[in-house]
Amino acid sequence: MKWYELRSEEVEKKVNTSLSSGLSDHEVKQRQKQFGYNELKEAERPSALLLFLAQFKDFMVLVLLAATLVSGLLGEYIDAIAIMAIVLINGFLGFFQERKAEKSLQALKELSAPQVNVFRNNEWVRTPSKELVVGDIIKFTSGDRIGADIRLVNVKSLEIEESALTGESVPVTKQVDPIRDEDDVSLGDQENMAFMGTMVTRGSGVGIVVGTGMDTAMGQIAELLQTAQTMITPLQRRLEQLGKILITVALILTLIVVVVGVINGHEVYEMFLAGVSLAVAAIPEGLPAIVTVALSLGVQRMIKKNAIVRRLPAVETLGCASVICSDKTGTMTQNKMTVTHLWSGGKTWTVSGTGYDVNGKFFAEEKEIIPSDHKTLQQLLTFGVLCNNASLKRTDDDIIVDGDPTEGALLVAGIKAGFSNEFLANQFEIVEEFPFDSARKMMSVIVKDRSGNQFVVTKGAPDVLLGVSKSVLWDHKQQTLSRDYENKIKDAIEGLASNALRTIAVGFKPLRPNQQIVSEREAESDLTFIGIQGMIDPPRPEVRAAVKECKDAGIKTIMITGDHLVTAKAIATQLGILPAGGKVLDGNALSKMDVEELENIVDDVYVYARVSPEHKLKIVKALQSRGHIVAMTGDGVNDAPAIKASDIGIAMGITGTDVAKEASSLVLLDDNFATIRAAIKEGRNIYENIRKFIRYLLASNVGEILVMLFAMLMALPLPLVPIQILWVNLVTDGLPAMALGLDQPEGNLMKHGPRHPKEGVFARGLGWKIISRGFLIGIATLAAFMVVYHRDPNNLGYAQTIAFATLVMAQLIHVFDCRSERSIFHRNPFQNMYLVWAVISSILLMLIVIYYPPLQPVFKTYAIEPRDWLLVIGMSALPTFLLAGSLLTSKKSEARA
Ligand code: ATP
Repeated sequence: MKWYELRSEEVEKKVNTSLSSGLSDHEVKQRQKQFGYNELKEAERPSALLLFLAQFKDFMVLVLLAATLVSGLLGEYIDAIAIMAIVLINGFLGFFQERKAEKSLQALKELSAPQVNVFRNNEWVRTPSKELVVGDIIKFTSGDRIGADIRLVNVKSLEIEESALTGESVPVTKQVDPIRDEDDVSLGDQENMAFMGTMVTRGSGVGIVVGTGMDTAMGQIAELLQTAQTMITPLQRRLEQLGKILITVALILTLIVVVVGVINGHEVYEMFLAGVSLAVAAIPEGLPAIVTVALSLGVQRMIKKNAIVRRLPAVETLGCASVICSDKTGTMTQNKMTVTHLWSGGKTWTVSGTGYDVNGKFFAEEKEIIPSDHKTLQQLLTFGVLCNNASLKRTDDDIIVDGDPTEGALLVAGIKAGFSNEFLANQFEIVEEFPFDSARKMMSVIVKDRSGNQFVVTKGAPDVLLGVSKSVLWDHKQQTLSRDYENKIKDAIEGLASNALRTIAVGFKPLRPNQQIVSEREAESDLTFIGIQGMIDPPRPEVRAAVKECKDAGIKTIMITGDHLVTAKAIATQLGILPAGGKVLDGNALSKMDVEELENIVDDVYVYARVSPEHKLKIVKALQSRGHIVAMTGDGVNDAPAIKASDIGIAMGITGTDVAKEASSLVLLDDNFATIRAAIKEGRNIYENIRKFIRYLLASNVGEILVMLFAMLMALPLPLVPIQILWVNLVTDGLPAMALGLDQPEGNLMKHGPRHPKEGVFARGLGWKIISRGFLIGIATLAAFMVVYHRDPNNLGYAQTIAFATLVMAQLIHVFDCRSERSIFHRNPFQNMYLVWAVISSILLMLIVIYYPPLQPVFKTYAIEPRDWLLVIGMSALPTFLLAGSLLTSKKSEARA
């Protein structure tokens, strides 16, 4: 269908919709049923069965399967079945873990799916783009990604970048008239169409959906979209490498154990199984899976705190963040603005009322006045409403702004004086609009009154508007903007800004009849400066504490804002961002510096004001070359490069554009600075938890290997039966390690500086902790074994059972130690009930294996007598006390020194 040839009414008819009311919910449901969702087909994900089978691809599992085969062939059926059962249990555990991780990542994807504004049942609503059907009416503005193929019916300075489709990166200016051509018109030339996946770079528009899903231009070229590759984090990569090293070490040690064992006269089959079990024990094959689970559970906790991770590696980088560069408006402040002061021609008025409540009174020097009695005030207010796209919406308990909050405040101020947009719409017609952008910091409209007079109304940052004005309204007269007037206006701007008010100036310019204005540059020149409206935007109450917590955690907070320097400074001081002696820099100064110059002072600057989005990139680069790990927030199209270049790009969930969100690795659902702090804290916690179970699993493995190695070197019998080693390693270790992944942060998590991004897995003494603890566990287990074995050398099986129980218990005590960088005594074990239950179930499983008669021959166990439990508990607790004791003495000698 050549939609571009049709007039909009024809399109409306063809797709059976109505531009005045949109589709009904019923109609939408039916079309969805008939034509499916608006989605590009993805390659199918592996089925549950495949995922389950994938658990057995692991090298160590294959070794185990081979061992099963050998046992089976040698007629050792019990061994074979037991090994098989353990492999299966382990497979199921891995399968469920992976499923859970995958599901939560999938849910995450859905959460960050794009939303569109659609007109249905006579009302604009936001819905996931997936829900769109042919016939829907949608609207979009700069920064949006177009959700379906649409025929445009209304555009305002609309420009769309279509490189995703046509390869052409220069944006196309759009219009709404039908295009008639003998030949086919190429996609790039269909100027009255907008296509799925393309990006609005400027202006706004409304259109009718004419193609969805695979039935779009994008669908035709995309064929099957591969599902996005699950990204692996730097830590996961490092663990993979570590895994390879550990395999080599484990195989060498295993070989030694086997050879020494055989030389000492052990049976070859017994040593073969012992070797296989040890190899399996030595390699932390569960580690990558548990890391994935810990990451994905952490990501879920972040969602609860309103932070959506779009790229998994960001979870780790978050923990390294040393600088947060944050927007002010809406992120540190509430974005709920109220005009409180108005200034024009040397006079100041105040307005009462809070929030967007439309009741308020005007005062001049504390005396109530009627605004329409004051011509300049009236002009200041009406122009603020005319050059405005916001509207107010009543909810059950509040009034909210649909549109830009700054414009909402201007609208409310106008309504308070009796100049609502409906009232003004009767007298003025907007013929052209030049939308606001944060680089220009102005917005303009061309307005026609009832007598046909045309004029430009501009509003914007006062200092910028002053720069394009040539006269000023003073005492109801138009005066040339002399140096004197200019200084007076500047003083007025600073006066308002120093009270932390956000300022917007209004200006105008009459046009000749039929004068054509083609560009914003032409419109926004030679203006008459009318006055300034000053609005409060109260800081979010939680930000001050969040800034302080970041500071304690060695993270510097920098405010980057398009707002006036003095306003920014006032708010930064209120929030504790700007310390005494801290530098403040404005966009002008920043423009004149190159990155090297900025680098020299960047560590002293806490506030950047009146910046344009491109300055953000410069700031990120300067900070990064000083070795910082930078988190940078943004919302607009132009913020995308800085978001991408930063180490942790953060986009706003509410005010952010699709483009900013796509460039980011983290999205703040509530646009709140405090959420960044929460995400960083969670990022640190996830990393610490990963360290905790690496410590637990590896120390356990070291213990298992050493007890066998020492026994062989001392020419003792095997202290553990192979099947017991497998059990400990694959069943007992798994649950507690998972529970460590869910551990709460230690109290000092945000009391020390950020982690260095290059920090190795074993940094901060972890390697030593693993080896020393593994060594002690090995010795303690061997000691328990030797005591009982020497007591009754004829009952080797009983001594082995004691060793088995000691090993399990030593690990289950150690797991509580792993919760703290200091020692077990620093934390309340009942804080992490998952861990308590995991440990209880591991103990129960062990008791079943020891006491349940049918399992005793399988695991070669014997019921342990009560008095021997004293030995088991004593030996298994020994490592904890020895290490805690050594920690204490080293602390004491440190203190003495
Ligand atoms: P931040 O970067 O912290 O979010 P900001 O919202 O103040 O700060 P911009 O949106 O770039 O940054 O606004 C810069 C300046 O432009 C504001 O200080 C204000 O004077 C002016 N301004 C903001 N919104 C509008 C608008 N809708 N129309 C005209 N001028 C505006």
